[in-house]
Parts: sequence; structure tokens; C-alpha cells
Amino acid sequence: MPTIIRDTRFTKLKKHPVQQVGLVLLLLGFAVLIGMLSLGNYKLTPSIVEQSVADSAHQAVLKSYLEPLYDKPIDSDWALSGVLDEAFENANEQLGDKPIDDYWGRTYKTYLIKYSTVGLPAERPLLLFWLSIGLGILGGLLYIFPKLQLLPGIKNNHIFHSATTNRGWVGWLLGSFLILFYILLYFFPYYITTWMLICDPLAYWLKGSGATEWFFYGLLYTLAILVMGVRMMIKYRHSKYHKLRTGSVMFFQLAFAFLIPEFLVALNKPYYDLKNIWPLNYDLFFEYKIEEFLSSGTLGMFMLIWGIALVVLGVPLMTYFYGKRWYCSWVCGCGGLAETLGDPYRQLSDKSLKAWKVERWMVHSVLVLAVVMTAAVLITFFTGKSSLLGISSYDLRYWYGFGIGSIFAGVVGTGFYPLMGNRVWCRYGCPLAAYIGIVQRFKSRFRITTNGGQCISCGNCSTYCEMGIDVRFYAQRGQNVVRASCVGCGVCASVCPRGVLKLEDRGDGKARFGEVKF
Ligand code: SF4
Ligand code: SF4
Repeated sequence: MPTIIRDTRFTKLKKHPVQQVGLVLLLLGFAVLIGMLSLGNYKLTPSIVEQSVADSAHQAVLKSYLEPLYDKPIDSDWALSGVLDEAFENANEQLGDKPIDDYWGRTYKTYLIKYSTVGLPAERPLLLFWLSIGLGILGGLLYIFPKLQLLPGIKNNHIFHSATTNRGWVGWLLGSFLILFYILLYFFPYYITTWMLICDPLAYWLKGSGATEWFFYGLLYTLAILVMGVRMMIKYRHSKYHKLRTGSVMFFQLAFAFLIPEFLVALNKPYYDLKNIWPLNYDLFFEYKIEEFLSSGTLGMFMLIWGIALVVLGVPLMTYFYGKRWYCSWVCGCGGLAETLGDPYRQLSDKSLKAWKVERWMVHSVLVLAVVMTAAVLITFFTGKSSLLGISSYDLRYWYGFGIGSIFAGVVGTGFYPLMGNRVWCRYGCPLAAYIGIVQRFKSRFRITTNGGQCISCGNCSTYCEMGIDVRFYAQRGQNVVRASCVGCGVCASVCPRGVLKLEDRGDGKARFGEVKF
């Protein structure tokens, strides 16, 4: 029987001492973040009920059921949540045709639990913020910076031998955590109120009111893009193209997706991410949004016109000149997260023909669904009819938001990074990607040109294509790559050892970034 010798050079990565410190700090910050969820104690008061329950009828009935709980210590959010469920149920028997529905029940519960927290999270939010998120940022940066010592150039060494990047146990653990996080965020935000509390100081400073689960999520999302953006800048520092596009997604996330919408709220204007385009921004034409725009004067009107102009003019024009990349790899928040946090997982995307077929069916079906749902909502807005072809527009809206907006975009889209690659949502679910993709496929000057004679069939380009495109197939034949799904990230060109691939905006052999080394 031959002896199998395990070559540890391929299974172990030696970490720089600074990286080891960074990893410890990162894990410590993470442990504090998780641990703080069990730190709080709770005490309800009449003023907390008034502050948390917006509807006066709901408030009046709920008060009678919650009164016996006032000023009594409750030792966990689970216990308080159970008591509140019971109170809502009893209240609904009295409220008749205006009950506390799922949405309001979740919202009231979140605020009631958040504001009744006593103890460390309520008294020292900033301390906990720095000990968790602060340590996480510091640890992440310390882990990343020593890579500057390596020579410039892409290094994906050991990527298929690491438990983190090759669907090993770390990948599964990370994926499970992300999925659990999204389930809590969308469906049980009242169990993560401690995380909202530690963001309160920043939220009050930015917008003059407390942090919601969405503020916490937006902050975490932005920090993930910024910290992992630094990693991208270092990893791809030999390439002007990658530095520019990474800087671009970092800027758009920080300014357009996080800061500007919060400032707008502080000014009592509608919350609006100016770069989020319908149908990705699927609630743009919901009646409460349109009413909000119409009642916000010139700025509101501008927002509505801007939103429509982007769909009708912005997308076709920009895609004609620059292809899908102008949005998916330079501007979009989902793309931004995929390109930064998701970069270590790009090789996990399925390159099979079957996956391509599934992708086309799925992404275009979501686009059709988004168009039908929006049409139904608009018909209801303009005519008062509440259904389209017998289907209630409110049900359509609800199920679209639940199935596509929450489960697909969040739980699956990001949770599956470590298992199915970093562009699961963009590839299979994003209706805007489907729309831009159609323009790119049939009406764009953008293409990837290939110099077939130089190709050595190493397959690097296909391996690292996050959209699952078998680039090598085209390269071997010297064919241009004109695919609806290509997001123009440029990584295929960067990893090609022979300089076979070129991203071009003019189709005349002169790449816009032709002089730049990919
Ligand atoms: S084909 Fe190249 S540029 Fe297009 S998505 Fe794949 S790796 Fe990115
Ligand atoms: S990376 Fe370059 S050389 Fe290798 S298969 Fe792709 S095009 Fe050919």
C-alpha cells in the first residue's frame, strides 16, 4: 500500500505576525458583537409604549394589556417578545377591523424591546460599538495591510486549498452565519435591538433620530465595502482599472447609499438612494413613495423625475457606451459588496451550460415579475382598482418584497457567497441586471475582444469569472465575448497570463483602458 504524503506547503498558509494579531482582533470583535445580544435586561414603562406604538388606537388598547408589566424586570428579549405577542393577540380581539398586522407587530415589538433595554447596551453604547465593530475594522485592516509587502500582481495562492474559499468548513460556517443574520434582519429584527442601540450615537449625530435595523445594516454594509475595498486596492494595486472601479463603488456606497439618504431624513425629506434604479429599487412607484415625493416640493419632484429618467434614458445610454459595467461594477451597492466582500469567492461560480440556462430563465422571470408587480401597483394608484387580472396588487407587492426583496436579494444573494460565488443575486435574481443585460447583449459597443492565437488554454479567465462565463471557450476561438451577464469587472483580463483579453468600449480594437495593464 503506497504511503500518501501530505504536502503541507499547499494546505497551510503562513500568516504574518501582524495578520495574526488582526485575526485575533477581528474574531474578538465578532465575539463581542454576538455576545452583546444576551447582555440586556428589559423594563417597560408607559412612556416607552407611547414612544414605540405609533397608532393611537393600537396604543390605547395595548396599554391596558401591558400595564401589569410596567417597571417589572424582564431578563431576556425572548421573554419580552413572548409577552408582547400575547398582548398583541389580546389587543387584536378588541381592535376588530384595524388589527395590529404582521408589519406593525414587528415594528412595535422592535421599538418596545429596544427602548425598554436597561444595562450596559443602553448605558455604554459607544463602548460596545468600539469593542465590536471598531475592533472588527481594526482587525480587518491589520489582516489586510501586510499584503503590501508582497510584490504587486494578483495572488490567488492556495485558494482551492483553503477551508474559507473552497467550500470548506469555514465557508459553510460563514454562509450559515450570513443566512441566519439575514433571517434575523428581515423577519425577527426585535432580537437584534442591541445592535441598533450601539449605533444610536452615530444615528443621532447623522440624522437626529435613533438607529433602526436598516441603519445598522446600512452601516455594516458600508463598512464591509470600505474595509474589503482596501483589500481590493492592495490586491489589484498594479491595475489602474481595478483601483478606479473599487474607489468608485466605495464612494457610491458611502456617499449615495449611506450618507445622503440619512441627511435627507434629517432634513425631513424622503429617504432616497439616488443611484438605486428601478426595478432593483422596486418600491420606487409604490403609492406611499409617490405621495412622499409629491408632498416634498421641488426636491421630491426632482427625485421622481430622476428615478424615471434613469430607467428610460440613463440605463440605455450609459449601457450603449460602456456596457453593463458602468453600473454593475462601478456604481451598484449589490455589485459593490460582491466585488469587495465577495472577491475571495468569485471562483465558486458555476460555469456549466446548465447553470447558464437556469440563470437566463430565472433572471428574466424576475424582470417580468417586477414589471407586472409595478404595473399592478400603478394601475391601483391611478384608477383605484385594487387588482390586475384578478390578482390583488397589494398581494403582488407583498409577495414580491418577501420573495425577491428579502429572501432572494438578502438571504440567498449574500448568504450564499461562500458556497455559490459572489454574484448569486446579480446573476440569477437582479431584475435590473436582466434589463441592462438585454441592452448590453443587443445594443452596446462594449465587448471583450480576444486574441485567440495567444491563448494557452490555461482557463484562468473562466475560473475567476464571477458571472460563470466560460471565457476560455471564446478566447480559444478568437471570438469576442458579448454576453448579457458580463459585468465588465475585468478580472478575466487581469488573470490572463498572455494578455489575450481586452475590455473595449468602442469595438474598434482600441480599448478605453487599452494602455492600462490589467
Ligand atoms: S467575462 Fe470577464 S469581465 Fe465579464 S464578468 Fe466575467 S470576469 Fe468579469
Ligand atoms: S486566461 Fe488567457 S491564456 Fe488562459 S485560457 Fe483564458 S484567455 Fe487563454
